[in-house]
Formats: sequence, C-alpha cells, structure tokens
Amino acid sequence: TEPGTTEPGTTEPGTTGTGNEQLTARWQGSLMDNYGTPRLPLVRGEGAKVWDADGTEYLDFVGGIAVNALGHGHPAIVEAVTRQIGTLGHVSNLFVAEPPVALAERLLALFGRPGKVFFCNSGAEAVEGAFKLGRLTGRPHMVATQGGFHGRTMGSLALTGQPAKQTPFLPLPGDVTHVPYGDVEALRAAVTEDTALVIIEPIQGENGVVVPPPGYLKAAREITRATGTLLVLDEVQTGIGRCGHWFEYQAHEGVEPDVVTLAKGLGGGLPIGATVAFGPAADLFGPGHHGTTFGGNPVACAAGLAVLDTLGADAALDHVKAVGERLRQGIEGLGHPLVSHVRGAGLLLGIVLTESLAPQVQQAAQDAGLLVNAPAPDVVRIMPPLVLTDAEADAFVQALPGVLDVANGQGRTGE
Ligand code: PMP
Repeated sequence: TEPGTTEPGTTEPGTTGTGNEQLTARWQGSLMDNYGTPRLPLVRGEGAKVWDADGTEYLDFVGGIAVNALGHGHPAIVEAVTRQIGTLGHVSNLFVAEPPVALAERLLALFGRPGKVFFCNSGAEAVEGAFKLGRLTGRPHMVATQGGFHGRTMGSLALTGQPAKQTPFLPLPGDVTHVPYGDVEALRAAVTEDTALVIIEPIQGENGVVVPPPGYLKAAREITRATGTLLVLDEVQTGIGRCGHWFEYQAHEGVEPDVVTLAKGLGGGLPIGATVAFGPAADLFGPGHHGTTFGGNPVACAAGLAVLDTLGADAALDHVKAVGERLRQGIEGLGHPLVSHVRGAGLLLGIVLTESLAPQVQQAAQDAGLLVNAPAPDVVRIMPPLVLTDAEADAFVQALPGVLDVANGQGRTGE
C-alpha cells in the first residue's frame, strides 16, 4: 500500500465516531494534555510504517522522536524481549543480571575506552545522573548552551537552555550559565575552575537540528581540560548510530568526553537511558549516592543488545550515512522555493524552510501520509528508523513537493 491509503478501520460496532475520533475522545478524558492537541492516534507499526485508528497508513519519519532505531516490530527486538521476559524479568539493583552487564560492556567497547555505566530509564534521568556527578566534584557552577535541550526533570531542566520551559518552574537547582551554542569564546569566558561541568549536544536536536561550527567540540574539550571541568556530551538524540557514527562526537577528531548521556535509540522502543563516565568521573558515584528501581532492567537491556547487534552488522551505520545523504540530496535537489537547505547528520535531519511554515508542513505531511515534526517555526525535523530503505527515502522525497505546496498555500491565505 502507499502512504496515506486506508485499510478497514477499527471503529467498534455499535459505537459512534471513527476509530481516530474515539481514541481522541478517550485520551482527552484520561491523559494530561501537556503536549498540545491534536495528537494522531496510532495503533500499529511495521518497520518505518504506522497505521492510525482509522486504518490510514503513514511513513513514520518521527520514529518515536529518534527512539525507534530499528523501526516498529523488528524481529531482533521482538525475539530478545520475548526471550528475556520469559527467562528473568526484573531483579532490582540489590542483584545483578547478565543483560545490563553485557550491555555496559558492549557500550564501553563502542566508546573504545574503559569507563562505567549507570543505567536509568530516560534521557532526562541520564542527564540527571550527569548533574549529580557534577555536584560530587564539589564545584558549584555549570555551563550549558542556549537553546539546548536536556530534559524536563528539575536538574535536567536547569541545564535545558529554553527559558519558556524553565520559567514556570523557577527556582531551578544549580548555578547554571547558558552560553550561545557554537560560540567558542563565550564558552571560554564562562568556564572557570569553579565550573563542575559543561554539557553540550553534538547537534542540538530539539532546538531544530542545529549543527555547531567545525572545531566546537574540540575547543570545548580543550577549555574544560584546562580548568579540570567535566565535559558532558548529551548524545540522547544523536547517539546509537543516529548520525551515522555510534556516537556523533566520534565524527570529531580528538574529542574524548568525561561523561556521555544516552537514551532514545538505545532501547529501540523500550525505555532505557544511560550515564556513561570515563576516567576519574567513572568513580565519582559511591555507595548510596544515586539509584533507581528500574535502571538496568534486563528486558530493556536485552532490547538494547538487540539494537547494538543489529546496528553492528551488515554495515548498518554506513547505510545510515548513505540513506541520510540520499534524503538530503533528494530534498535539496527538489529546488522547492520553501526549502532553504537541509542540515544535520545521518538520519537526524532538519529541513530548513525559507518561511516560518513548519507547523503547516507538519500538518500537510500528515494529511499526505508522512509523519514529520516541527521543532522550530522554520525547521521540519526528520528522524526515521535507521533501517530506512532507499525506496522509503525516495517515497518521502517524491511526496514532499506536494506537501510543501499545500503548506505554502496555507501560508499565503494566512497573510
Ligand atoms: N537530551 C536530549 C539531547 C534530548 O533530545 C532529550 C529528549 N528529546 C532529552 C535529553 C530528554 O530525554 P527524555 O525525554 O527521555 O527524558
């Protein structure tokens, strides 16, 4: 079937409204509305495709916000999760199981350095772990970047550089300076011997796929090394192959962070996060300093191993680079007046528009059977499964001009 085509829907006999209408009415009566309406009700997925409750098919270029590294229902994840839940479920951190040990070993091998891993359940928690490591240095001050996103728990929100998200929750913990992203001199001026940590996304995802100038991460490493400050790289969105390397910082020569935060793609759809520390930072947490009931859950870790196995085989990361480049060239090659350029790396791409019509593009795309996201008024973000096929990439590019025309028309009528 083609994106946007409809299968028989899921409307219950004897009830009113379509499947989408029914699920919408039910969530509005039961879930907190903290993401803003409307929310498309999805009921099924397969690879890079999903179906809504009316049976309409979509090409899923949101991918759970860069979570579904292997797409929906990948056999490796289904098999690993089924096997693990049937073998040993949760054990608590009073005990230890094979999957978290194996996953930590695998991650450290991919980093290529000795270190220690703390498993948790989300990106915000991974950052929270880094925040607490920073506190244990005894230094009071932290540096983060304007526009950066690190999560919504109070500690991670203090590092998130988006005032609109912070303001309702002031005061936030910590003494945090937010410097302009990509500005080496501003970073140098902000970091002192009182600075516990500097946290940076190698590419700012939530802020609209903002890529820093070449040399930024390397300069950040030099600046933090000079003051004995921890360099924390937040790879929650960019890590686990998303940008064509296991970790995006590995695309930059000479950068060895002290701490890396991971989540999203790591579990391939199961909730898992990780705070990974190297060198002296790996030994900052002592007994009693930090913990979480579900961290290291064997089922989530088994899914993580399946993700790493699959992405480690068959040149999967080369494929991420190649299909990402195919998308970039295809989209820029359209020469559409609404498209300025495409930025990002691998399969974390921002389509930068010439006008602030990203929400209109998102809606027009959905109407045409393509799911995309609008993190900024003029940026459409795509982060499909890393196993996206060339044919699926081409289908997206082919459908895009019609979507952009509709959005452009809506922009006009709004003027
Ligand atoms: N850090 C980064 C870079 C992120 O993109 C996100 C989520 N978008 C987070 C942290 C927070 O992750 P979570 O939503 O799992 O708490």
